[in-house]
Amino acid sequence: MSQAKPPLSASRRLQARAEALLPAGVNSPVRAFRAVQGEPRWIARGAGAYLYDVDGSRYVDYIGSWGAMLLGHAHPAVTAAVQAAAAHGTSFGLSSPEELALAERIHEAYPAIEMLRFVNSGTEAVMSVLRLARGYTGRDLILKFAGGYHGHADALLVEAGSGLATFGTASSAGVPAAAVAATIVLPYNDLHAAQAVFDQEGAKIAAVIVEPVAGNMGCIPPVPGFLQGLRALAANAGALLILDEVMTGSRLAYGGATERFQLEADLFTLGKVIGGGLPIGAFGGRAEIMRHISPLGPVYQAGTLSGNPLSMAAGLATLETLRADRPAYQRLEATSTRLAAGLREAARSAGLAVQVQSVGSMFTVFFAEEPVRDFTCANRSDTRAFAAFHRAMTARGVLLPPAQFEAAFVSLAHGDQEVDLTLAAAAEAFRAVGSRA
Ligand SMILES: *Cc1c(COP(=O)(O)O)cnc(C)c1O
Repeated sequence: MSQAKPPLSASRRLQARAEALLPAGVNSPVRAFRAVQGEPRWIARGAGAYLYDVDGSRYVDYIGSWGAMLLGHAHPAVTAAVQAAAAHGTSFGLSSPEELALAERIHEAYPAIEMLRFVNSGTEAVMSVLRLARGYTGRDLILKFAGGYHGHADALLVEAGSGLATFGTASSAGVPAAAVAATIVLPYNDLHAAQAVFDQEGAKIAAVIVEPVAGNMGCIPPVPGFLQGLRALAANAGALLILDEVMTGSRLAYGGATERFQLEADLFTLGKVIGGGLPIGAFGGRAEIMRHISPLGPVYQAGTLSGNPLSMAAGLATLETLRADRPAYQRLEATSTRLAAGLREAARSAGLAVQVQSVGSMFTVFFAEEPVRDFTCANRSDTRAFAAFHRAMTARGVLLPPAQFEAAFVSLAHGDQEVDLTLAAAAEAFRAVGSRA
């Protein structure tokens, strides 16, 4: 008698087929769930705070498309705007009014962004802004922080967090040494280290690029004075400060970390939330610097699909929705605070050494003994415990980003019901991790 094998899940069947055609079956590495030795879920649809996989399982979603989905999935205003735009044509390769409308909204939210240009991803925004910073200053050196992820452009793939941290790769193959030779990497939150580099190399530094709240090595808040100190160091040396707000922009406040912490910078990058879940990026800042961009100036930058009408429509609907509902950020904060406190309590009850670090609607459950303030600390986390926690949460219908070194995101569609569900799952999952040893 042959025993019937349990049927493969639909996710597993798709994954197996995809692995023949797409490397690891995915189009972006962390989606393969390898860091948590988990099963990649294939998603059929999203609605509000939930994702539904192709097997019909429902999850409270804290991936939020890596931060883009601040309003939650399939928000009616965004869906309607995209449908209306699509009916009028998907790309013209010429200017359309929505580009100006979204640019005006962004300038209003970030007054320091006097001029900007839209691109198609955060990576592209960062790549372009670095060229601009170098072209404007006539200098080559770029300063970044270990564990800071600024997309996958060559010059910044040094000690970048995110998927790279998870895979323990300090850098990527295929990046010529020359491409990173002008990149200096320092520990996050270490102003003394930055001061020392500026003392030595100040006159050669084009720009410092920093995540105002680190999110790509897990959520790490800036220590008081760190970002302000960078501002002063850069200004004194005639270098530019670039705030990479691709993740934090219009998430930590309507005007991003810039508004939340009252920051000043020369240049900014945006992405994720400002596109409402469609491909987008933007870079901008002081008009005097932005005028160096082609065709006004000598720094070349272009894009076939830049300012795409669908992305503009989704971004505009997102920002208009947020603008009309400013208390939204207070609700988001309240939900996030309650969730983080509940997770801390649940871990404590299970007797686990866990740091729940959060800023606004970004958070990370670090399996670490001490508060995590930089990449070195983050790397001391117990990634096996995190993996076990992740699998236990997924099994209980809560989807966290499948890696220790990623921030999780609360959306405006998350409410008390979702927090209750999450905390009930976490109480069990932490206990499961605790009894694993
Ligand atoms: C996501 C992210 C990027 C890259 O954006 P993509 O749209 O994925 O290319 C750059 N910087 C930061 C801070 C990010 O979080």
